[in-house]
Amino acid sequence: MCGIVGITRKRGGVISEIKKALKKLEYRGYDSSGIAIVNGNSIFVIKGVGTIDEVLSDVKLEDGTTGIGHTRWATHGGVTDDNAHPHTSCDNKVALVHNGTLDDFHYLRNKLRERGHVFRSETDTEVVAHLIEDKVRSGMDRLRAFYESIAPLSGSYAIAAVFAGSNEIFLARNKSPLVIGLGEGENYCASDITALLHLTNRFIFLDDGEVAVISPDEVRVWRLVGQEVIPVEKEVKEVSWSPSLIDKGSYPHFMLKEIYEQPHVLRQIADNVEYYLKFSQILAESIETGRRISFVAAGTSYHASLVGKYLFSKRLKAQSDSIVASEFLEWGDFIGVDDLVIPISQSGETADVLEAVRRAKDLGAKVISIVNVPGSTLTRLSDETVYMMAGPEIGVAATKTYLAELAVIYSVVKLAESYIEGRSPNPEEVRKTIMEVSRVVESNLPFMDEVSVKLSESISKKRDVYYLGRGINYPTSLEGALKLKEISYIHAEGYPAGEYKHGPLALIEEGVPAIVLMPVNPDLQSKIIYNLMEVKSRGAMTIAVTPEELELEDVTVIKVRWDRPTEELSPLVYIVPLQLLAYRTAVKLGRDPDKPRNLAKSVTVE
Ligand code: GLU
Repeated sequence: MCGIVGITRKRGGVISEIKKALKKLEYRGYDSSGIAIVNGNSIFVIKGVGTIDEVLSDVKLEDGTTGIGHTRWATHGGVTDDNAHPHTSCDNKVALVHNGTLDDFHYLRNKLRERGHVFRSETDTEVVAHLIEDKVRSGMDRLRAFYESIAPLSGSYAIAAVFAGSNEIFLARNKSPLVIGLGEGENYCASDITALLHLTNRFIFLDDGEVAVISPDEVRVWRLVGQEVIPVEKEVKEVSWSPSLIDKGSYPHFMLKEIYEQPHVLRQIADNVEYYLKFSQILAESIETGRRISFVAAGTSYHASLVGKYLFSKRLKAQSDSIVASEFLEWGDFIGVDDLVIPISQSGETADVLEAVRRAKDLGAKVISIVNVPGSTLTRLSDETVYMMAGPEIGVAATKTYLAELAVIYSVVKLAESYIEGRSPNPEEVRKTIMEVSRVVESNLPFMDEVSVKLSESISKKRDVYYLGRGINYPTSLEGALKLKEISYIHAEGYPAGEYKHGPLALIEEGVPAIVLMPVNPDLQSKIIYNLMEVKSRGAMTIAVTPEELELEDVTVIKVRWDRPTEELSPLVYIVPLQLLAYRTAVKLGRDPDKPRNLAKSVTVE
C-alpha cells in the first residue's frame, strides 16, 4: 500500500535520495506523492495526485539535509492534491506522512477545530500534525509533543514527522510497517527494507507501540506506556538481500524477471533443506499429539496453503484447515491451546494475516510462519519463522514466492513424514527432488513462454477463462485464474474439474477457453479427460497442460517437457505456463503487469 521514506544526513542531497527510495516503493501501489524538506526554519512541501515523476519533477529547492516522502493510497478523503501527504500544521512548522487509518479522527478533528485549528484536507492523517502543533504551542518539547499526540490514537499507523529547524525525524508505529535503516552520518526510515537496500543493509525493525527519533548520528527508540515513554534497546539486524535484486535488469517487467528467477529460487531452497528440519519436527510432533493444524493466508499464499492441506492429508494422513486470513476471526474459534497455526505471507505485513495471528496467539496456539521478507511484522509475532528464500518480489502478482511456498511446504512434509514413520529424515533426497524440479522449470521456461505468446493472441480476446484441476492441481487452477484476472482484468475462475458440472458448466458456450491441468496419476487422468470432453462438447476452446502425449482431437496442448513427472510436484511445474500466459495476455492488452489497477503488493489495511 502506501510508502513512507525519511532521510536525515549531514552531507545533504536528501531530495534526490528520497525520490529514489520512494520509487523503490512504487510497486506497493499509490495514487498521490509528496515530500517535505526541512529548509532552515521552515518546511518546504510539494505534493499532489500522480506519480513520483509527475509530482516531484519540479522541486524548487536546491538541497536539504532532512526530509520525508510519501506515496499515498487513499483511504480517508478522495484522491486530491490537498489530501496527498505530507500534511502540515497551521503554522507549517510540523509536516508528517502516515500509512494506515485512524479510528477517532472525527472526534479529534472537531476538538482541534474548536481550538482554532484550520484543516486543509479530508484525511484522518492531518489531525496528527495539528495535535503535535497544539502541544508544542503549550510549551512541550518536540519529543513529548510527538508521543503525547500519538498516545491517544487508535487504528493503524506508521508515521514520520519533521519539525522546522530540526534535523530529527520522529517515528511511530502501530500495525503498519516501519523500519529504520542505519548509515554513517545519516539514518533513514521506510515502509520496508527494499526502499533502503541501496543505502544500507543494517536495520532496526520497529514494533507496535514504539516511537523513535532518528538524526544523522543517533537512533533512539522508546515504548509508549500510557502517556509516557520508556527507552528500549533494539537489535540491529543485517539483511543479506542485495540491491541488484530490486532492479528489472534487461526485463521489461519485474513480473517476467521474477518468473524467470524461479529455477534459482528453487535451488536456494534445495541448498538449504536442512533449515526446514526444525519446522518439520514440530509439525510431526503436533500431528502425533493430535493438535489441530490450520493454515492462514491470503491470495496466492492461500492457494499454496491448499497444496499444504492436500499434502498433509496425502502424505502425513493429517487433517488441517486452510483459512482465508480475512475470515479467520469468524471461522477460527475452534483453535485451542497448543494447536498449530501456520500463516503464509510473502510480505509478512498483510494486515488480515497479522490480525489472524494475534487472535491465534490469544487462543493459545503455537504460530510458525512461512515468510519471505526478513524482519517483517509477522516474523516478530510468530513463535517461529521459516523463510521462503525467494528474495525481494516486486511484481504485484506473486510468482516466484508461490513456487517458493510450494517448495518449502513440500520439503517440510517430506521431512516430517520420516519423523512420523520413525525414520531419520533424508534432506539429501529432498534436495535432489527440488533440484530436479528446478531443472525442469528452467528447461521449460523459454518454450512455455513461446507457447504463451501464441496463446495470448486468442486469450486476450476472451471475456471469461476457466481453469479446471483435480486433487493437488485444484489450487493450481485457482492460482492460474487469479494470475489472469489480477493483471489482464479478464474474468477467470478456477474450479475442481469434477465439481464444474454442478453449476458452472452452464456458462460454457462456443469458444470459451477451458484450461485443464492434466493429472499425472492415470486414474485421475481418465476422470479429467471425461471432464474435458464435457466442456469441449459444449463448445469450449480446450487447452491442456500435460507432460504426456495427449491423443485428443482439437485440444491445444501445452506440453511440459518432464521425464519423470509426479503428481505431488506437478503444481510447481504447471503453474509456470499459467503465469506466463497471464503475463503475455496482460502485455498484449496493453496492461502494466507490475502495477495492476486497484491492487497493492502488500495489503496493510484490513
Ligand atoms: N489514511 C491516510 C489517507 O487516506 C493514509 C493512507 C495511506 O496509507 O496511504 O490519506
